[in-house]
Amino acid sequence: MPYAYDDQNIFAKILRGEIPNSTVADTEHTLAFRDIAPKAPEHILVIPKGPYVTADHFANEASEAEIADFWRTLGKIVIEIGVDEEGKGHRLIANAGVDGVQEVPHFHMHILAGRPMGPMLLMRD
Ligand code: 5GP
Repeated sequence: MPYAYDDQNIFAKILRGEIPNSTVADTEHTLAFRDIAPKAPEHILVIPKGPYVTADHFANEASEAEIADFWRTLGKIVIEIGVDEEGKGHRLIANAGVDGVQEVPHFHMHILAGRPMGPMLLMRD
């Protein structure tokens, strides 16, 4: 089973209300909240409420309703925080697994904005 979900991960605890969060959006299938250790002036995490480990897990197994709700919510947040005003833009990141350096094994998109993000990646080795 490539997508074993650990329901003790920190975002599962946030979804169960066991850990507080700074909520930005809360819909039927999606929760968005501020990152506890922001890497940019705006750093918001958008997560599905269902038990999905990675973006590919979500894309392969979530319902149409979950997928639509997730992306519509993310889109509204980007508009609400105004990060695309004057074409300044933002960066979306989804880390997965060991090579992707995913800290929390519950699928999340990072929305980062409010400063130039720099190069996407540097090739090493
Ligand atoms: P990842 O490396 O898995 O893509 O990113 C996980 C993110 O979750 C990190 O940016 C980290 O700062 C954030 N994070 C970890 N624990 C908590 C927490 O308890 N609350 C919030 N709001 N963010 C967290």
